[in-house]
Amino acid sequence: MAEFCSECWNDYYCKEYTDEKFILTKHETLCEGCGEYRRVVFATVEKRWQQKIWYIYLPLKRIYRLLRPFLQIFGFPYRLIKYRKELIEIIKNNKR
Ligand SMILES: [Zn+2]
Repeated sequence: MAEFCSECWNDYYCKEYTDEKFILTKHETLCEGCGEYRRVVFATVEKRWQQKIWYIYLPLKRIYRLLRPFLQIFGFPYRLIKYRKELIEIIKNNKR
């Protein structure tokens, strides 16, 4: 990951984030944008928030993938009953 100071970061990503949105490194590092030793952007608040969502979303997705076949198996009798009811109605309608 490229290291940019907050100003160069805004230039590079074409955004206008305020300093509150940045999480800067504690120590000064060479900025790849202006070539000066400055505190560079470690992460943005937005990115950290997205990561938190991702940590919740990913396990849920895995659980869903594991459970999906079981859900389909348990859902099968219900669908069969529904299908039978529809079939009976169709037969009744045909008799009339
Ligand atoms: Zn810079």
